[in-house]
Amino acid sequence: MTEALPAVPPAALPEVLFSRLLEDALDAVIIIDEQCRICYINGAMQTLSGYASGELLGQTLNGLLPDAVAAQHDDMVLAYIRSSRTSSVLGKIREFAIRHRNAQMIPIEMKALDLGMVDGMRYFGAFLLDVRERRELAAKNASLLAQLEQQALQDALTSLPNRRAYEAQAEQAMARAARSGGMLAVGVADLDHFKKINDRHGHAVGDAVLRTVAQVLCDTGRVTDVAARLGGEEFGLLFPDATLAQAAKVAERIRVAVAAAPTRLPGGTDLHVTMSIGVAMLAPGATLDAAMSDADRALYQAKHQGRNQVVAA
Ligand code: GH3
Ligand code: MG
Ligand code: MG
Repeated sequence: MTEALPAVPPAALPEVLFSRLLEDALDAVIIIDEQCRICYINGAMQTLSGYASGELLGQTLNGLLPDAVAAQHDDMVLAYIRSSRTSSVLGKIREFAIRHRNAQMIPIEMKALDLGMVDGMRYFGAFLLDVRERRELAAKNASLLAQLEQQALQDALTSLPNRRAYEAQAEQAMARAARSGGMLAVGVADLDHFKKINDRHGHAVGDAVLRTVAQVLCDTGRVTDVAARLGGEEFGLLFPDATLAQAAKVAERIRVAVAAAPTRLPGGTDLHVTMSIGVAMLAPGATLDAAMSDADRALYQAKHQGRNQVVAA
């Protein structure tokens, strides 16, 4: 059995322990007096600021503050001391910045405290934590998230919006049309005899053709139109503010442009493909599914009538 140690009342702890704790703390620590003169900085604060202790002691804090803060800081401290106002900084965690010896602004998290009066002088202390790594990580995560969100809505082969993005954009277009009383037409486009292209020239050439067609779809529609890859060799179209006749006219322009767009084969010759397109109106109150079914039926008819053509439902 271990013998009980004699109880040590906290008041009996030697003060050197507290000063060592402060001196060696990982957080930077600074103490200023009511005239904002620096009275103490610990080792971590020397590292954070780039100054040796002797360079800062007795100096005003303003040299370490961003210009905009430095301009107000003395007055704020004075106002706080003179009135019994509560402080928006003291006792709270605040994001902030300090100026390094090399003039670089370092983002920090600061916990500032009113240390009260000692021998007729008021003192304030603060713990400062370098948040550069945390900021960098947050920025990296945000950009990674944006990239993932982008990928979740984009077809990897053609960079066109994918089916999910198409449906989302259709929802938005439907809401706009409902608000403004405008028209909305949809289209389904499908490459003709694409299986033969793959069979004859290989899958890689098939992929190159899909990229050629995607480029044509991007270049040929009106700026407000949407073209997406729904899957395989099938594309979805959205024609905001278009009558059925106007949508069919844009679809016809796309059909002609697809037929004219070459895909260069490895041997150097150009390959051409054609596309059939069905267009239909999305009537007010109707669902996207219903309109796409109408466009699908029109597409089927275009295929049935000999392909390389546009049919309006
Ligand atoms: P139709 O004129 O009736 O549309 O005939 P089709 O041959 O185009 O239609 P089918 O549905 O029989 O064949 C579609 C082909 O598209 C089959 C499939 O291998 C090919 N395909 C689907 N997705 C891709 C892809 O990402 N890359 C390539 N290279 N081919 C694909
Ligand atoms: Mg096809
Ligand atoms: Mg198909």
